[in-house]
Amino acid sequence: MDMAERLARERRARFAAERLLEWKSRELAAANEKLALQARALSEQVVEERQSARAARSEAERLKGQNTRYVGDLDRAHTAAVMAERRLRMSVDTIRDGFAVFDAEGRLLLANRAWTRPFGAGSIQPGMPYRDLLALVAPFLVLGIDHASWIASMEQRILGDVIPSVDLHFASGRWIRLEDRRARDGDRVSLAIDITAEMRLRAAIEAIPDGFALFDRNDQLVMCNQRFRDIYPVEPHLFDPGVTFADLLRGKVAAGLHLDALGREDAWLSERLADRFECAGGVEHVLTSGLRIRARNHPTPDGGWVGLRTDITAEHEAQDILLSTRAAAEAASRAKSAFLANMSHEIRTPMNGIVGMAELLCDTPLTEEQRLFAETIRSSGEALLCVINDVLDYSKIEAGRLALHPEPFDLESLVHETTMLMQPQAKAKGLNLQIDYDPVLPTRFVGDPGRLRQVLTNLIGNAVKFTQAGHVLVHICGELIETGACALQIKVQDTGIGIAAENLEMIFGEFDQVEDAANRRFEGTGLGLAITKSLVEMMGGGISAISALGAGSTFAVQLTLPLAQAAVSTHLPTSLRQVLVVSANLMTRTILERQLAPCGIAVTACRSGADVAAAMAQGHLDLIVAEHDGDQVNASTIADMLGSSAPPIVVLVQPADDAILGPLRTHARIAALLTKPVLRADLYATLSQLTGSSLPTSAMPLGNPGRLRPMRVLAAEDNRTNQLVLGKMVRDLGLDLVFADNGRQAVDLWQSFKPDLIFMDISMPEMDGCDAARAIRSLEQGLAHVPILALTAHAMDGDADRILAAGIDRHIPKPLRKSEICQALAEFCPPDAELRGITATAA
Ligand code: ADP
Repeated sequence: MDMAERLARERRARFAAERLLEWKSRELAAANEKLALQARALSEQVVEERQSARAARSEAERLKGQNTRYVGDLDRAHTAAVMAERRLRMSVDTIRDGFAVFDAEGRLLLANRAWTRPFGAGSIQPGMPYRDLLALVAPFLVLGIDHASWIASMEQRILGDVIPSVDLHFASGRWIRLEDRRARDGDRVSLAIDITAEMRLRAAIEAIPDGFALFDRNDQLVMCNQRFRDIYPVEPHLFDPGVTFADLLRGKVAAGLHLDALGREDAWLSERLADRFECAGGVEHVLTSGLRIRARNHPTPDGGWVGLRTDITAEHEAQDILLSTRAAAEAASRAKSAFLANMSHEIRTPMNGIVGMAELLCDTPLTEEQRLFAETIRSSGEALLCVINDVLDYSKIEAGRLALHPEPFDLESLVHETTMLMQPQAKAKGLNLQIDYDPVLPTRFVGDPGRLRQVLTNLIGNAVKFTQAGHVLVHICGELIETGACALQIKVQDTGIGIAAENLEMIFGEFDQVEDAANRRFEGTGLGLAITKSLVEMMGGGISAISALGAGSTFAVQLTLPLAQAAVSTHLPTSLRQVLVVSANLMTRTILERQLAPCGIAVTACRSGADVAAAMAQGHLDLIVAEHDGDQVNASTIADMLGSSAPPIVVLVQPADDAILGPLRTHARIAALLTKPVLRADLYATLSQLTGSSLPTSAMPLGNPGRLRPMRVLAAEDNRTNQLVLGKMVRDLGLDLVFADNGRQAVDLWQSFKPDLIFMDISMPEMDGCDAARAIRSLEQGLAHVPILALTAHAMDGDADRILAAGIDRHIPKPLRKSEICQALAEFCPPDAELRGITATAA
């Protein structure tokens, strides 16, 4: 390269450099200028910023101070919150009931121990879904459905806003009630309440066979059991807690459940509301369903009440069956009674022939063997009659058809007569049969003498039957009670075989006899004491027995009877002051003393005939009463040894034949004979007579009344055998006896024959005895009353009433006994007629 070019290039380069320099200088100057401007603005800004930075710094300083305080507060608040939460958890854990909270998605947020307990410790974690929890608990439950279905139903349950409660039954026996509430934020609070005790109580109430309902103090239903609902099938809501009793009643009436409310609903409602607690035993309701309900309501201590409803339908049905069975039984019993009455009639009629004829046969001259046969026939017949009578009486008592017929009667005479009937048996055994009738006791009472006689006959009969040696004492005492009645005590005491203590109670039962070898010798039905007890109880009394085996028995009857007019006079002539009683027997001496002492008589006593002279030497005597035993006391010997100045002698004797009594009767010194046991009235009458008093006496006259016409007797009897029996029985009495074959003949003969007495059979052809008696009574208007005595084999109660209603004065049961016939004849014999031999019999 040349120099020129290099110089040109250098010049161009210099030139470009100069222009660049100039541009740059200008650019630099502009920049400097801008920079100055910017610097100025910047410095202004810096100043400004510096000022605000300063302000900011001081603000920051202030804020920093404040922040420090906040952080402190926050820490404290956090600690407090943690503590509060812990406290809350602890408190919630102490709650007996379970408590849990779930979030809106159903995840467990929180649960106390009681809630988690059924799941087992540690198996539950917060955040667990509800479904998992259900799956965990299902195996522990008693469920009627499979687990999946149950879980589904439980999930379904919580979907709504209002969640129904549910009761869970655990296999362990526990019951839990779940109550869930939805919170506003969607959370769900779940309570698990232990209701085991309540469910146990409910189970018990359900187990009651009766309907049960509990009402509170406002009459609102608290609960009721299923039985209650079943009895009253009404709308189920009427059993909801809170329903009032009145609404429940109205619901039942509206449903037409109560038969007794139909047609009178309002009245029935107000009655039920009013009488709710009135009847302690409850009221009976009949339901249209056919049920019979006994409703009982009981107040509870808190002012509420409990209603019990018992189904008594079966009870009623049983009662109905019982009633119809009873009616059938009564009909059967009536039929039985009628059958018995007929049978008894049928049996008694031929028995009359057997017993009557045997009795007559015994009175004829017989060889010893023939007598034994005849006696056996007679006593067997009598025994058979006793059995028939016992069975008949017992069936009457059992059927309630035995009625008492109270009337005034003389107890002392009754006891005496009854005892006298036992005298032959007692005598045969050598027993001392005695009566001790308390002298201060009245003798006239009102009662049923026939039935009382039956009682005495049984007791005295047993005493004689079961005693082989010693005595039988009939002791009667009593005390007056204010009501004009007397509390009597009748004791029959014996020295017989006695009864073992273990048998004492049972002997009053029917067909009960003491089963031992000693006892089986004796005949009997075992009905006697059962009948006696029933009779005494019907009379309002009681009977008891005390006994010692081998030593004897005492049967005591307690009986209160009203008093009737007094009849026995205890006034003896004042001339009678000193009496000597001679008897080997202490009981006789004591009784006579007790009988005579109340009359103001001083009684001295001695034991044998040998002592009489010594006793007489003691002082003056007005009378001697001696009990003749033919051994220690022989009345004839005593009479023989006494001088003419001796007082009169009255002799007490056992009934005996003429061989013994004849010499006594004819002895000049012996003033009177009295048969033992002596009726007090007879004793007093005899003493009055002997000492010249005119006191009325019930004893038979001793002398013969002189020439009189024969007594006219008409006997209406269709049965030839019975005619024969009666004819033979009275053949020695010198009667004018005419027979009628039926009632019509009897009426005719009454008019033509004009009898003093009519014996009237009841069952007769053509016209029966009752019709005949009625006909005679209607015809005899204005004429003298003829005594009509029915001879009857009828033995049922009511027969007697029918017979007496026909105008018949009395009835004598068949088979006839000579003694009864003679007694009746003696009683009705008119003063101008004669009964041959009767006075001797009585004396
Ligand atoms: P029975 O017809 O057998 O006499 P009861 O009913 O009169 O029937 O008496 C029942 C039983 O009581 C008798 O069989 C007898 O064993 C006993 N018994 C009754 N009375 C007496 C008595 N006085 N002494 C001993 N045992 C007696």
